[in-house]
Amino acid sequence: MSNYLDVFSLKGKVSIVTGGGRGIGLGIAKALAGAGSDLVMVARTESQLREAADDIAKEYGGQVEIIPADLTQVQQFPDIIKRTLSRFGRLDIFVNNAGSNIRKSFLEVTVEDCQTVMEIQLKSAYFMAQTVAKEMVLAGSGKIINLASLTSKIAVPNISVYGAAKGGIFSLTKSMALELAPHNINVNAVAPGYVRTAMTEAAFKDKDRYDWMLSRIPLARFGTAEDIGNTVLFLASPASDYLTGEVIYVDGGWMAA
Ligand code: NAP
Repeated sequence: MSNYLDVFSLKGKVSIVTGGGRGIGLGIAKALAGAGSDLVMVARTESQLREAADDIAKEYGGQVEIIPADLTQVQQFPDIIKRTLSRFGRLDIFVNNAGSNIRKSFLEVTVEDCQTVMEIQLKSAYFMAQTVAKEMVLAGSGKIINLASLTSKIAVPNISVYGAAKGGIFSLTKSMALELAPHNINVNAVAPGYVRTAMTEAAFKDKDRYDWMLSRIPLARFGTAEDIGNTVLFLASPASDYLTGEVIYVDGGWMAA
């Protein structure tokens, strides 16, 4: 490689980002587009996707397709891939980011709560990745990045179902990496520390919780969607070609303490 910046270039690549309309997914979409990738963004709220896509296209100049869809409906997944291929003719990068959470004590969680969180955080992530991977196997290459969490490894009170799902993502990342390596597909995960988004807003508004979270972070600040986007960009780019099966904590040092 003659120019070291080229190893971070995504020029000519096509990425799908689930949940790209806001929060961390939007930060990831911007990072990938900023490095030259065309984008497909999937989430339920069409107006949010449209606004995000317009902003990204204006700021970075790439092409952005939006697909409004409820990702708990797994039967739609082949159509999402078909639409991506018919618009762009290829699929290089997949970011498995869409998710939601329910805060309740372990003793109060219902079967419905468990199903709601597991459906999007684990089942949808599993089968969307499988659908994407089938296409990448045909193409002979690809990069898949899953969204894990600190709770993939440690317990945080009142989000036991979320933690169980993210523990599953940790394990799934390694299984996928092992089985897809012969097809030249890299599979890694990013585990963000606390980033203020719609999902974490309640925790950030609770002063005691806010102070506790901040006190645990050696770098003494919360993460941003840009922090996560930058690490996803590394994992999506040729710079990480020899890296697979890893879960990278982007947490200001939380897990080191
Ligand atoms: P967020 O702002 O609430 O964004 C979640 C995204 O997922 C939205 O775009 C949402 O769009 C989409 N989504 C949710 N349910 C969906 C469904 N059924 N079908 C399609 N799209 C759906 O949350 P975030 O904090 O950015 O979270 C993004 C990822 O990072 C999640 O996997 C989360 O677990 C993980 N994470 C976040 C943090 C943090 O501190 N924020 C920490 C660790 C890990 P619609 O509602 O329009 O569908």
